[in-house]
Amino acid sequence: MAAFETHIAHLVRSVSLSELTKHLEFEMLGMRRFGFVSGQWLSFKQVKPDGEELTRAYSIASPPGEDPRFALCLNRVQDGFMSNFLCDMQAGDEIHCQGPFGDFILRPPLRDTIFIATGTGISPFRSMLHWLLTDQLRHQGKQFWLVLGSRYERDIYYHDEFLRLASERPNFHYLPTLSRGSVEWQGLRGYVQEHVPGIAQSRTDMHAYVCGLDKMVKANRELLRSLGWDRKSVRYEKYD
Ligand SMILES: Cc1cc2nc3c(=O)[nH]c(=O)nc-3n(C[C@H](O)[C@H](O)[C@H](O)COP(=O)(O)OP(=O)(O)OC[C@H]3O[C@@H](n4cnc5c(N)ncnc54)[C@H](O)[C@@H]3O)c2cc1C
Repeated sequence: MAAFETHIAHLVRSVSLSELTKHLEFEMLGMRRFGFVSGQWLSFKQVKPDGEELTRAYSIASPPGEDPRFALCLNRVQDGFMSNFLCDMQAGDEIHCQGPFGDFILRPPLRDTIFIATGTGISPFRSMLHWLLTDQLRHQGKQFWLVLGSRYERDIYYHDEFLRLASERPNFHYLPTLSRGSVEWQGLRGYVQEHVPGIAQSRTDMHAYVCGLDKMVKANRELLRSLGWDRKSVRYEKYD
């Protein structure tokens, strides 16, 4: 089997998105441009203190550009090694990675699309939506819905950014929903799948992309099937 090339990425910037979540910006060393397709992921490698080499996948959370940069959005997982290692990195620190990999990418022909995510499952959709919405030739005036779920308001990652994008792009509809929102929260409540029928019912001419933990992905796939959607119109990426 052909070995994949290993890249060295160094951390340029680390921003806290919540108590346990970070937005990390990296630059690939020795590259003029890092090519990937929105929705793809990288495999990060690190040797643990006991000598075991660990690899973990992380979706790219930024759109492809003309530079060697990319971003990640990641959660600290309790007792997890790689997520905490990455979250603890300081500007200038380096890590090895391979990729890009994966075929969780926008499937042609482009249709009206619903993106469904919880937590850091937003990563590939942040990349896809920024890529699509910067250029009319890419988005072709299609309608895009982002149904983004979290427990509390403080855990809706990139909230202001998506609010701004929705105010600038009439074909982008941003629907954050909270399962444990405070009394002040004026937006949607409940789980993401509760808000999907309002968009997807009676529509078999759309695509859906679902990203997050297994339970949520399963619930949304089953729901779309029950609404009469063709299996091929639904793509998904599971993080666990
Ligand atoms: C294609 C792909 C893309 C991914 N992209 C992202 C991403 O963009 N951002 C991100 O934060 N994560 C992402 N993940 C999850 C990531 O790869 C790791 O599984 C996660 O960071 C935990 O790794 P760890 O080494 O810290 O913990 P581990 O040592 O692997 O796990 C510790 C414990 O946490 C549980 N666990 C594992 N993963 C999760 C999880 N995601 N949430 C809650 N509990 C978990 C395990 O069952 C185990 O009990 C992605 C996974 C895949 C397969």
